Amino acid sequence: MADRKTCRYCFSEIDARASVCPNCRQRLCGAWRTVMQIVVPIAFIAMMFASILWMEAIFTRGFQAPPEEFAKHRDELRVSDTNINFGKEVFQTGQRDIVAVVGTLQNDGDLAWQDIVLTVAFFDKENRMVDAIQNMGQLSVSARGTASFKVSAERHFPKDQYVSYKVQVALARHARWRWPF
Ligand SMILES: [Zn+2]
Repeated sequence: MADRKTCRYCFSEIDARASVCPNCRQRLCGAWRTVMQIVVPIAFIAMMFASILWMEAIFTRGFQAPPEEFAKHRDELRVSDTNINFGKEVFQTGQRDIVAVVGTLQNDGDLAWQDIVLTVAFFDKENRMVDAIQNMGQLSVSARGTASFKVSAERHFPKDQYVSYKVQVALARHARWRWPF
């Protein structure tokens, strides 16, 4: 003979194992089953949402400092020992003229920098800008360190128009790891 219990809705005596009362058809599941059926699925959906948002943050921003932080440290990166060179790049179907600026990047600050973007502007003898180029590489510099760089591109104008030039650090990112929020 199975154990008996009293239905809490209609107070009739029923089988202790019943999850639905055979008399009044009320569900007799306990508090733990309510938790499992409502709270757990909601928590699971919330975790899925959090995971999607986190992955999205990693893919769009990455584990890196935002570039705007560079503005506060711009003066810590100094360009020196620059030199301009003209050359030719030879490939199978022909050749093209190249202009290149090399130099040293000195970091006076306590932060390491990566993804450094250098821009070079070229001026003619009347000090008018004739050309501008940007490095495509992966330039980085350690804290209190130095890095050699080369910024080069195809030369589109006569060599004698490249009278002077100016190198600027346009952008850089902190090299340290950062939580993506
Ligand atoms: Zn009942």
